[in-house]
Amino acid sequence: APTVLWFRRDLRLADNPALGEAQGEARATGSDVVGLYVLDPALWASAGPVRQAYLARSLHELDASTGGRLVVRHGDPREVVPAVCAEVGARSVHVAASYEPYGRRRDDAVEALLAERDVSLQRTGSPYAVAPGRVRTRGGTPFQVFTPFRSAWLEHGWRAPAPLPDDVAWATLASDGLPDAPEAGARLPAAGEAAALDRWHAFLADGLADYPTDRDRPDLTGTSYLSPALKWGEIHPRTLLADLASAVRSGSVPEDSAATYRSELAWREFHADVLFHHPGAVQRSLRTVVPEDAWATGATEDALLAAWCEGRTGYPMVDAGMRQLLGTGWMHNRVRMLVASFLVKDLHVRWQRGAEHFMAHLVDGDVSQNQLNWQWVAGTGRDAAPYFRIFNPVTQGLKFDPDGAYVREWVPELRGITGKAVHEPWKLPGGAPGYSERVVDHAVERKVSLEDFERARR
Ligand code: FAD
Repeated sequence: APTVLWFRRDLRLADNPALGEAQGEARATGSDVVGLYVLDPALWASAGPVRQAYLARSLHELDASTGGRLVVRHGDPREVVPAVCAEVGARSVHVAASYEPYGRRRDDAVEALLAERDVSLQRTGSPYAVAPGRVRTRGGTPFQVFTPFRSAWLEHGWRAPAPLPDDVAWATLASDGLPDAPEAGARLPAAGEAAALDRWHAFLADGLADYPTDRDRPDLTGTSYLSPALKWGEIHPRTLLADLASAVRSGSVPEDSAATYRSELAWREFHADVLFHHPGAVQRSLRTVVPEDAWATGATEDALLAAWCEGRTGYPMVDAGMRQLLGTGWMHNRVRMLVASFLVKDLHVRWQRGAEHFMAHLVDGDVSQNQLNWQWVAGTGRDAAPYFRIFNPVTQGLKFDPDGAYVREWVPELRGITGKAVHEPWKLPGGAPGYSERVVDHAVERKVSLEDFERARR
């Protein structure tokens, strides 16, 4: 009987152990593999136009790499997956395991429904080098802090990349068709496995060596820009880790550059691990750092949030970041940290509202990475930046966008200002006509936040 390979966040053929399992099983019975993607209306709606557009293109690429045999079915996976199995007489469904709360609930429900028909759900691999929940302290408890987690994660190690399967016999089955890509309204990167591998190879050759110094500079292209590909599983972190090791062995990349990149991948795994142990962290702070009355409310909150979302806070570095997000579905990590700090600590708006805006617009929007990074900045996470560390939007600009090129790219109203003066337009004689006034005074709000923090500790 055919086997079913159910694609979810693993839209690739290379280094895909679940595909290897499905193919092996199909071969043993002289049968073929149904490559299934279920367009789940609940997930599709929550993805928003940017991720919908990217996903539609990625599925298009995946379909092409299966020779046009990708079977797309629209509907609730709890109904669709058992129905497809019944249609072809499959006895097993292969997946890479999901670890986020929604995916876990969905998979457990599908597994139970399949079991009623004697069909098994086989989980092989996950979107991570090491499955969340697996890296533990010697006492068997989850890690609370990143650095020891990373050491244990490195020590635990991971499997070698799975070989690219040759000649998968893809089954032919009626498909509801690929979803239409909506108008994203943002300039998105090329989607699909081949584009992800190209981007990675270019970064290995040209970007990685300088990554430790350039990665904090939003005015340079100093990072790999692989987050959308990792989010959708167009490339697996195992592939990246194996290539890093061989680049170091061959001497083409210094170990400290590889180690810095590996460490960023470890953050991705750490956040997934924290969410696995604390599924409530999608919405709830893992700790309380300021009193309830510290937060802006009502019309004040709405007005401040709107200024932040639209990139008109009057702080150039913050506004540049927020407009980069709207323009490209992506924002540089340094600027994500700054705008998040600004929302929570200068505008006193809860992190959940900022996280919601990010999820609506990020092409790499991922519930574990987004919510836990927000909690890190807000000081409410497991291993978080201390609440009293408050980013200064001006000094961050002067340090990481030293000539102001990033601000001028994203804030056209400031293009007439040369050099670093662009970070403090209010100091210029006559100001910056056409550019927003500052919605708050950073020096004042910083003090308010520190007092709120002290009140919560008393
Ligand atoms: P690179 O610097 O090239 O890093 C390589 C990879 O390492 C990234 O693709 C990513 O998978 C991982 N990585 C790097 N930094 C982090 C980090 N701080 N936490 C976790 N993983 C990291 N990343 C997402 O993938 N999805 C999100 O929804 C998301 N939301 C964020 C929200 C906030 C408030 C902050 C501060 C960060 C968020 N990040 C998120 C993390 C980080 O900003 C992005 O992963 C990174 O900017 C992606 O660009 P890159 O691929 O060029 O990164």
